[in-house]
Amino acid sequence: MGKPTGFKEFKRETEKYREVSVRVKDYGEIFTGTHDIEHLKTQGARCMDCGVPFCQSENGCPVNNLIPEWNHLVYSEQWQTALNRLHKTNNFPEFTGRVCPAPCEGSCVLGITNPAVTIKNIENAIVDKGFAENWIKAMPPENRTGKKVAIVGSGPAGLAAAAQLNKAGHTVTVYERADRIGGLLMYGIPNMKLGKDVVQRRVDLLKEEGVVFVSNADVGGSGVMPEGVQAIDVKALQNENDAMLFATGATKPRDLDVPGRGLKGVHFAMEFLTASTRALLDSDGLELDLDNSQVISAKDKKVVVIGGGDTGTDCIGTSLRHGCKSIVNFELLPQSPAERAEDNPWPLWPLIHRVDYGHEESAERFGRDPREYRILTREFIDDGNGHVAGVRIVEVKWAKVDDQWNMEEVEGTEKVWEADLVLLSMGFLGPEHYVSDAVYVDYDARSNYRAEHGKYTTNIDGLFAAGDCRRGQSLVVWGINEGREAAREIDRYLMGESLLP
Ligand SMILES: Cc1cc2nc3c(=O)[nH]c(=O)nc-3n(C[C@H](O)[C@H](O)[C@H](O)COP(=O)(O)OP(=O)(O)OC[C@H]3O[C@@H](n4cnc5c(N)ncnc54)[C@H](O)[C@@H]3O)c2cc1C
Ligand code: SF4
Repeated sequence: MGKPTGFKEFKRETEKYREVSVRVKDYGEIFTGTHDIEHLKTQGARCMDCGVPFCQSENGCPVNNLIPEWNHLVYSEQWQTALNRLHKTNNFPEFTGRVCPAPCEGSCVLGITNPAVTIKNIENAIVDKGFAENWIKAMPPENRTGKKVAIVGSGPAGLAAAAQLNKAGHTVTVYERADRIGGLLMYGIPNMKLGKDVVQRRVDLLKEEGVVFVSNADVGGSGVMPEGVQAIDVKALQNENDAMLFATGATKPRDLDVPGRGLKGVHFAMEFLTASTRALLDSDGLELDLDNSQVISAKDKKVVVIGGGDTGTDCIGTSLRHGCKSIVNFELLPQSPAERAEDNPWPLWPLIHRVDYGHEESAERFGRDPREYRILTREFIDDGNGHVAGVRIVEVKWAKVDDQWNMEEVEGTEKVWEADLVLLSMGFLGPEHYVSDAVYVDYDARSNYRAEHGKYTTNIDGLFAAGDCRRGQSLVVWGINEGREAAREIDRYLMGESLLP
């Protein structure tokens, strides 16, 4: 245990992001890039080393990070040992340390009576120090098994599975249809939350360890391919390999089927975010040319983001950096309470109102939080030339009827909100099916690939599924959890037993 009286002596203090007025002018990470070691020691000292650390168990960290152990090690300045402990359970703490919503903190025992330990900050500091001190090096396996595994999709699930299977000595090839490796870590989560150099650094380490990456490779793709993209026959891939993992993500966006949906200026959030990141990376990674025809520019536009969550926030943060004229974010649901509700007790994930980086930046720029709650979109208005000019909305109210939430429109509240760019960010409906249909994979009721959690086997012998394509849209940390566990099951399938965790 760090310091027995630490939680009484020190207050929770999270590491500050860069100043809003400065960071909103660039696409660099919102983090300062430095960690105050003395500050982190006091934060680590707040850990009570509970008899049952809920933070690292079921309701807490999905990869079961050994949190009290590394809190103690940080307090006692044993950073390299802390890093070794961290890597035992998490292949990519530099991703989770930056973007994880930290369910661990929601179930921290200290959190019952006091603010939780700043677990995520500590995780990030350990791995950043590991890289800065050059402690993190490629560790290729000593022996190869001669078994071949193909992984389709290079998001956190595919990468974690590749790292683990390679460690077990198998020959792993990761196929990715995008031009860069990383899934939503690369194209999705914007630079501000996760620098692409951070993603590429880990991909390079995996390459050095022997993982083969094939980008611009659309497995199961057919018809006319985009320039530079090759279609890979999925059955041939299956025959050439001893096992195959689908880690293709939940890439089908939820649409909004209202009049005017086909107007110019109405886009899925991912079209907007991906184009912006790609253009940024194709330049020097810091300056974005908004005149680039590939970019959906928000410059001088009245932007409406429909739907919240991480994707909505990222649309807000990106639009502000483009230089939008105004921004509003419509949410169908009411605002969450400031404190946990009675039916949302500890150690469950706290369903409370949160202010993320984009909301903070919008408040600084326009003097208010951009979110408007209980808003239903009825129609997109045409400007007369086929381009969106506004969004017709109506307020709704929610009431519980027979234990079910019921939504009702509020009479007389209909109005038109001016808009010349609308971004749809209403979640995802599961994986695309063209690759899975080609090999007759079964689906569950939500159209995800059917494979039991913990086993990851599909109905096809030797074909496994992990990550968002199996569980539906989720989190990076769950992708890592599933990739690691699927690797263990694949190893067992190939070798009869597995020493992978
Ligand atoms: C905008 C946005 C912001 C987010 N922010 C956060 C956040 O802050 N924190 C957090 O924890 N989570 C966040 N998430 C969720 C998180 O990114 C995902 O849960 C996670 O990336 C899922 O990992 P995955 O490996 O299952 O799939 P993905 O990351 O989606 O990767 C799947 C990959 O498979 C590729 N692929 C699909 N089909 C084929 C094919 N046929 N052939 C070849 N390649 C194929 C895709 O191109 C993609 O690169 C965010 C999601 C979005 C969209
Ligand atoms: S991965 Fe997420 S849940 Fe796990 S310790 Fe890190 S921040 Fe907490």
